[in-house]
This record gives sequence, structure tokens and C-alpha cells, in this order.
Amino acid sequence: MDYKDVVAKIKDYYKEIYLLSHVQAILGWDQETYMPEAAIAERAEQAALLQSLIHKRRTSDELGRLLEEAGASSDRPAGAESLSDTDAAIVRETYREYSRAIKLPEELVVRFAQVTSRAQAVWQKARIEDDFGLFAPVLSEIVDMVREMASLYGYQEHPYDALLDEYEPYAKASDIKRIFDAVEAPIVELVQRIGEINQVDDSFLHYKTDKEEQKRLSLALLDKLGYDFKRGRLDVSAHPFTTTLGSDDVRITTRFLEDFLPSSIFGTIHEAGHALYEMGISADLHGTILADGVSLGIHESQSRFWENVIGRRRSFWQKNMQLISSAIPALSDVSAESFYKAVNKVKPSFIRVEADEVTYILHIILRFRLEMGMVDGSLEVNDLPDAWNQQTKALLGIVPKKYSDGVLQDIHWSFGGIGYFPTYALGTLYASQFAHAIEKELGSIDELIAKDRLADILSWLRDKIHKYGKIYPADELCRRATGESLNPEYFIKYIEGKYGDVYNLS
Ligand code: MG
Repeated sequence: MDYKDVVAKIKDYYKEIYLLSHVQAILGWDQETYMPEAAIAERAEQAALLQSLIHKRRTSDELGRLLEEAGASSDRPAGAESLSDTDAAIVRETYREYSRAIKLPEELVVRFAQVTSRAQAVWQKARIEDDFGLFAPVLSEIVDMVREMASLYGYQEHPYDALLDEYEPYAKASDIKRIFDAVEAPIVELVQRIGEINQVDDSFLHYKTDKEEQKRLSLALLDKLGYDFKRGRLDVSAHPFTTTLGSDDVRITTRFLEDFLPSSIFGTIHEAGHALYEMGISADLHGTILADGVSLGIHESQSRFWENVIGRRRSFWQKNMQLISSAIPALSDVSAESFYKAVNKVKPSFIRVEADEVTYILHIILRFRLEMGMVDGSLEVNDLPDAWNQQTKALLGIVPKKYSDGVLQDIHWSFGGIGYFPTYALGTLYASQFAHAIEKELGSIDELIAKDRLADILSWLRDKIHKYGKIYPADELCRRATGESLNPEYFIKYIEGKYGDVYNLS
């Protein structure tokens, strides 16, 4: 068979997985938004059925044979040089997914699903009762299982690499460590300097605001950012998320807290960033394995870019404060300057998801170090709370008094998501680097905003990042877009510059 014919067959084969994944997303979206409570039992069965259909198709002998014909396991299969970047990436990514999936015996996959499903319930109870001892045994089971998985997947340097690969393909723990080590000292020092200064007044952010008014504001913001309502919609869920239900159906959710307006404003902008990425993937890739974000880090770079680099920028509110005053008349007296300062308040706190733009990355460095220890066996689960508190003290200067404010706060370990956390920080770092590249090519972002040219910024992101989907791995994509690999200096400069200004540091 001609090499190109094999690739065409792989594409055809994959189309069904693509459609099934979107059906799965529809069920998930419904479950988080409108599904009546009693529907949960059968919904879980429906979801499990789809999951198993998708898994079977991803690991079938038929797909294995096609990939073998394509010589997918070798670095330079004969005939591959005639392929476009897109077709070569289809073979690469399909093989990557297939070879990872077949390395785990079915017994282990089933057991992992059972343990993590039980663990999530145990974690919820442990968090409410503030009892780490309740969660520790099941967390130990999960750590043992992910270590077993890491050795089955295989790795060159550190077992963590094999787990990270699930969320940030092709990344290495040693690179992440090097980047985090570079970021730590300057950020810790900045947080300490800010701590010595009088805090900004953000009390008006807690004024009671009507949910309908907040919704009007969220819709106006989405419109401003270029979110396409013909290909998506905004709904409400307990935790905001973005989900792709079809090539032309990328939905987001937000939440409206009556006594904390920023939650909906920045939740909406954050999810819009994720959605703009998915909406910007080239239509040529629809129906293929490449029609997806390339990594969670790059995905998060798009949400953080819009949320922080644009949405928490002085010039954005100087230009757009009327969006707030017309949606929420009670806030029409608040100036752009006081709003800007209030939404950029920096203060060490215990809870990651509530952390500001500066301290956030320290929460991730903490988790990354603890995960590395658990995965390589140098940190026992029983010693986790002490290690957590010591590291929090070193990084943030505070010590939580409750497990629920510390080691029990996140859901990730209970679903087995060890290796996930670093992607949040990578997103923040990539976002600064992209902002720098945009200014080099298009000029000052403040001027673009002042001239109401956010669309130019979106076009840059589409052209350099979104349209490619998974054609280029994250590092190559970053080099093509900015001329170099991820460099934490852009983040450090951006943060020091911005917060030196917010807090008048000299
Ligand atoms: Mg996100």
C-alpha cells in the first residue's frame, strides 16, 4: 500500500474516536450544568460505556496494524519524507496515544478507575472532616499505582517524566525543575517586599452584585474578546470550565458569586481564553487527532494570557471600564485605577485557586516538589502534611493550621492526576513569553488596547498557536512563535515590572 494511503486509513479510522469523544463531552457538559440530580446513576453508566468504546478503538489490533504499516514506531519510516507536516503529525500523535494506552494491562486500568473513584469520595469526606489520616491509605494506593504505571510507560530520566507526559507531552521533569528553580528566588523576594507595604483597598469587590447584572457583564466581555456565540454559549456550573462538544461547538461556563464580582469576571475571561484556542484550530484539522490543544501548558497559556496579561492590565480597564458601569450601575463610581489595583492585590494565602498572579506559581512549585518525592519514593504519604507545611513556610512565609487549607485542598491527587499541576505554571510562563513576542511584532499591547485592536492580538495567537492544533509539540510551537524555547526570564520581568508599578516599588 502507498504510504499516503496508510495515513488516509489512519485518519478515517480515527474519525469515529473524534465523534465519540464529542458525544462524551456532551454528556459531561450536561452533567455539570442542567442534568437533574436523580439522573446521575445511569449517566455514570453511559459515560463508562462511551469510555470503554473509545478505549477499545484506541488500542485495537486493527489500529496497531495500520501504525505498523506506517512504520510509526521508527524515527524515520520509509516514505514518511513525502508527508506534509500535518500527515506526519497524525502518524506521530496516533502512535503516541496508541503506544501509551497498550502499555497498561486492562486489569490495572480498571483497578485504577475503581480506586480513584473511591478516593474522590474519601477525599471529599476527609477535607470536610479535616482528617488527613482518612485520605492517606487510599492516596498511598494511588501513588503505588502511578509508580507502577510510570515503569510500564517507561522513561529515560525520572519516573515523573512518564506521568507528566500524559498532560504535557514530550516535557521532562528536569526542565520543569530548572525553570521553577529560576523563578523561585525572584518571586519569593518580590512577595516579601510587597508584604512590607500598605495593602490596596479591594473592599468594593465584595459589594453585593446581582447575578443577572454579572451575567450581562460576562456576555459583554466575551463579545469584546471575540468569542463566537454562533459556535458556543455561556452557562453556569459550580467550577468554571471549557468543553468542546463539536468542531463548531466550544462552550464555556462561569459562576456568579453575589459577594465577589471578580470570580465571574476573571472566570469568564479565563475560560474564554481556552475557548478561543479551540475555536481557532484550523478547520482542515477537524475530525483528526490533531484538532485539540497541544498540551495543557499551552492550553493554560491561552486562558492565563487573556485573564492576566490582558484582563488584569491597567490599559484594559482604562479602555473598558464602561462595560462594568453599564452592566452594574452600583459600581459606576469605581475608577479604572482602583479596579486595576484591587484585582492585582498580592497576598500570600493558603488556597491555590484563590491565589493572585504572583504567588500562584509558588503553590505549583510546592506541589511539583512533593509529587516528585512521592513518585521517586523519597517522600512517604504519611510525611506529606509535614513536608507540605515546611515548604509552604519556605515559599509563602505562612503555615496552614488545617489540612483542608493545606494538603487536602486539591482534588487532583484523588483522581490520580499526579503530574498535572506543573501545566498550570507552564501556562503562566508561556503567556508572558507570548506577550513579549506580540509586542516585538505588533508593538505595545497597551496601544493596541487603547485603539480597540484586541482582534489583532487574537489574530496573532491564531496564526502562531491556535491554528496548528497538535501539529507541532509544545516546545517546537513555542520556538516557531517566539524564536526560543520556554524562557522563565519573560515571566520574571513581566511580574517585576507590573507589580513594581502596582505597589510603587523602587
Ligand atoms: Mg484553565
